[in-house]
Amino acid sequence: MEPIYKRVVLKLSGEAMAGEKGTGIDQETISSIADQVKKLQSMGVEIAIVVGGGNFWRGRSSKEMDRATSDYMGMLGTMMNALALQDALEHMGVVTRVQSAIEMRQVAEPYIRRRAIRHLEKGRVVIFGAGTGNPYFSTDTTAALRAAEIEAEVILLAKKGVDGVYDSDPKLNFEAKRFDTLRYIDILKLGLGIMDSTATSLCMDNRIPLIVFGIDQPDNIVKVVIGDNIGTHVKEE
Ligand code: UDP
Repeated sequence: MEPIYKRVVLKLSGEAMAGEKGTGIDQETISSIADQVKKLQSMGVEIAIVVGGGNFWRGRSSKEMDRATSDYMGMLGTMMNALALQDALEHMGVVTRVQSAIEMRQVAEPYIRRRAIRHLEKGRVVIFGAGTGNPYFSTDTTAALRAAEIEAEVILLAKKGVDGVYDSDPKLNFEAKRFDTLRYIDILKLGLGIMDSTATSLCMDNRIPLIVFGIDQPDNIVKVVIGDNIGTHVKEE
């Protein structure tokens, strides 16, 4: 089992941390993710993880609240996921560092690009929390941004409840067709809801390949990294 990537950004949505409960944190689910990350690390893959926060709060959840305030709450939610994942990984003996885009010295390092790269080179798993640190953005955009900054070869977009990109919602349309490959421009043109347009454009402009795959099947994160042909592969051409 040889990995085909040396440095990856794994994007875990908040939902992916919640298991069947849908909200909050499911310990068993997090342990399963941590177990896969450990396997990758032992193969020598450098892993940076961007965590979402939708299992706690999304900026657009509140209609009444000021959008920026609501978004900051969302970013704080991602930090809870970051710490939970760190805890699960460290229990398995994996050395990790959490870097936060919003400074919170008592719980995490601040995000410092060169330091993140150094951690990866030393074999530490780096978890990026608090998104980009800016309201009006998403953690998918964070994954694109961090992947460009640390020169990751690929973004692994792990999804709960779906195993790739479809031409329509497979939960509503039984005849929905799954794409094996796709271009970024098609996501924008067809309005596919897999990622927001800011994240999609950032990936497109910086030519960062993306693999969208389901996290419900065990060991899928490992399978993607060793080159099994699962999910949808999104590229520039
Ligand atoms: N968020 C933000 N700026 C960022 C990243 C995230 O404001 O750079 C906020 C935003 O409100 C978002 C929430 O954090 O709804 C949680 O992130 P996201 O929705 O991307 O999480 P996921 O859907 O991956 O669980």
